[in-house]
Amino acid sequence: MDTFLNHKILPDFLNRMESLILLGGEEIPSFTRIYKHEELIAESSNEVEKNSDSSFHSEILCLRDAKEKIGTRYLPECLLITSLEPCLMCAGTILLSRIPKVIYLLPAKQGEGISSLSIETIYSRNFFPELICIPAEMSKEAFKSFFKARRKKFN
Ligand SMILES: [Zn+2]
Repeated sequence: MDTFLNHKILPDFLNRMESLILLGGEEIPSFTRIYKHEELIAESSNEVEKNSDSSFHSEILCLRDAKEKIGTRYLPECLLITSLEPCLMCAGTILLSRIPKVIYLLPAKQGEGISSLSIETIYSRNFFPELICIPAEMSKEAFKSFFKARRKKFN
């Protein structure tokens, strides 16, 4: 699985993310894919602006889509990969979906992401996903330039 991650999932993810970044747009460059074993099941980008709904994060949309395709409410054989560490809202949905492996390419600020969940929260559940941060320059740059452009717009 790890070889597949390094040689297939990660490069494919970065390629796709690069082409999405080039398209630009209003949305934060959050992009998520879910794989079951080695098969791509779902892929989503944020749709917060498009739907004027602050809960339309790429992780939530991707989990919803994957569940619909697989036809179950749990995703125990899946892996989720996303450009930015999932926020606490998405962390809740990830836990409820029982997805065992979560990979992200940019850590969130302290206290804002899934890795900041308290030990009590983790131990009070009989399930918690393995979290893997694989820092990617592309993701860092994408978010940096997104927020820079946004600051220009609103100042
Ligand atoms: Zn989120």
